Amino acid sequence: MLDAELDVLPGVGPTVKRRLAKLGLATVGDLLAHRPHRYEQPVPSVQIADVFGDTEVAIEGRVIRASSRRTGRRLTVQTVRVADASGELDAVWFNQPWLIDRLPSGTHVRLRGQRSRRGGFAVRSYDLGTETSATADFAPVYPASEELAAGKLRQLVEAALPLARTLPDPLPAALATQERLPTRADAVAALHRPTDLAAAEEGRRRLAFDELVVLQLGLARIVRGREQAVAPALGDPAELVRRYREILPFTLTPDQERAIRELDGDLATTVPMQRLLQGDVGSGKTVVALYALLRAVERGHQGALMAPTETLAEQHFLTLEGPCAELGVRCVLLTSALRAKEHAEARAAIASGEAQIAVGTHALIQEEVDFANLAVAVVDEQHRFGVEQRQALVEGRSPHVLHMTATPIPRTLALTVYGDLRVSELSHPPADRRPVITRWIPEERATDAYRRLTRLLREGRQAYVVCPLVEESEGKRARAAEQEAERLRSAELRDFRVGCLHGRLKPVERRELMARFKARELDVLVATTVIEVGVDVPNATVMIVQEADRFGLAQLHQLRGRVGRGAEQSYCLLVSRAKEELTDAARARLEALVETNDGFELAELDLELRGEGQLLGTRQSGLSDLRFTRLRADRGLLERAREAATALADHEGLLAEEVERAFGGDEPTPLA
Ligand code: ADP
Ligand code: MG
Repeated sequence: MLDAELDVLPGVGPTVKRRLAKLGLATVGDLLAHRPHRYEQPVPSVQIADVFGDTEVAIEGRVIRASSRRTGRRLTVQTVRVADASGELDAVWFNQPWLIDRLPSGTHVRLRGQRSRRGGFAVRSYDLGTETSATADFAPVYPASEELAAGKLRQLVEAALPLARTLPDPLPAALATQERLPTRADAVAALHRPTDLAAAEEGRRRLAFDELVVLQLGLARIVRGREQAVAPALGDPAELVRRYREILPFTLTPDQERAIRELDGDLATTVPMQRLLQGDVGSGKTVVALYALLRAVERGHQGALMAPTETLAEQHFLTLEGPCAELGVRCVLLTSALRAKEHAEARAAIASGEAQIAVGTHALIQEEVDFANLAVAVVDEQHRFGVEQRQALVEGRSPHVLHMTATPIPRTLALTVYGDLRVSELSHPPADRRPVITRWIPEERATDAYRRLTRLLREGRQAYVVCPLVEESEGKRARAAEQEAERLRSAELRDFRVGCLHGRLKPVERRELMARFKARELDVLVATTVIEVGVDVPNATVMIVQEADRFGLAQLHQLRGRVGRGAEQSYCLLVSRAKEELTDAARARLEALVETNDGFELAELDLELRGEGQLLGTRQSGLSDLRFTRLRADRGLLERAREAATALADHEGLLAEEVERAFGGDEPTPLA
């Protein structure tokens, strides 16, 4: 019954069905799992004569007359005179002209709303006739769409709810009792028709528990599959990595040492490593990554470093090239921007084993390249990939894999979401770092920002200017950056050497530009967000971000990570429109950046601002998104779901079906 398509419900024809599908709702089960994003607050029911102030109330009465008029190009106002025994008022709706036909005089209505400043009663929700659903206390409010009102969804859910009674409960009763969780049927009922908020929350927690148990069971299957795969055992660290340590111009931090010990432990066995290396921007992940690659090389195998974009691959190549040359290790770059001949040469070198380390985008490496002998793969910026890609990029091979991410997520969370990965953390940056000083500067004082920047340039420092975010295309972004560079060359930065970095440059041009900047032949790089990741020039100590309010929090933090990479004090100057003109969220983002350099804190705040689930929005767990779980609030529940899953692993029972559905029916690939 739950698998039945939604047109079994009254009022669902082809059009509504299509609109429901756009919300991701195809079956009755989907609809029952459509989570209200909030519930109406309880409000007092009052007589019309007692409506005053701006507190929300509910009133009941009869329609006397109704009219609609146009007040602007896009705005119509519906005014409905309503009376009860105590008096009359004008209830007001906006842009719902069709309401008028449904409100002939004499109609009984229940309205929830409040007195508006203009004198009318601004209606928030309403019920016609005698049923009370939309205006009830704790009435659910569903994520709706332009084409499908929340009210329609509420009706449909009401119609589907009786079917929830037939929901089987996949959890063993003893477990549910022990966890003090309601049955699944009760949970679904409480989700949609709670008697109060506590009941709704209890239902949500039960459903969250279920989805977390399913997630854990699925991950456990992947792990079991992996245990059957075999990777080359790389023994103990040897000569090459000893020399690598010697040529590093610094000593490793304790965190880096620990991460290295942990991955050495993994590499010693034939079970393919699946480790997540997480550390904030600038925490020194790349050093650890190269160590892992060299561990493969010193045993006669190959290493591959995969990046999500071409630019990032090139950046990594630039970073690795130096130490590799010093160590006598042959490192090749493979991007689709290479000329055909170079491309073929690089591929041949990788296939023959002559190239010991390959750097490229994951797409390239996974699709086009035959490795002679791949033993270690490093995947950068893991959060940009879904699990499907993680799987595909090593299909048919079983290298040890190190995933790197700069999106710090709480450890318990990482364990749950990436339960198939072990986690190494770089939580402290190299000691000689000073926190970047971040300032938020309104546009009209932008000259202050440039004054500070040019002063630092005169002292011998270098700088970045990040251009406003242009959404449309790489081409548009590139042109905008070129224009801005041109403008700055003849204005604020006229005394300095200005380069322009964007995604439309040819790889050689880009490489040359970066090399010149590194060699201090350029003072300033005007850039698009291509510099977001990987660019590493310690002498660059100041960054101006133009129209900073248009960037996301994580993105700004990444950008800021380009400065503060040496011992000198660094600055990040965020220029935006005036505070009053910004949305609350934009203001909160910029304030947070000024306040803290801690990527962990920012990630948590980002979660809050964007809403839970977003972190997983790209299906990175390999499951459909966690719908009911609230990652921050449910940490305790996460742990318990893990324990429950361990206990259930051998007799998944009814849950097996759900695990199947979430993880696909295929045999678990050993390399996920
Ligand atoms: P991430 O990839 O985590 O953003 P990187 O590996 O690029 O960080 O390191 C950032 C900068 O810090 C680089 O310039 C790197 O050479 C330097 N660095 C890395 N480890 C250390 C260390 N132990 N001591 C001093 N500097 C370090
Ligand atoms: Mg890096």
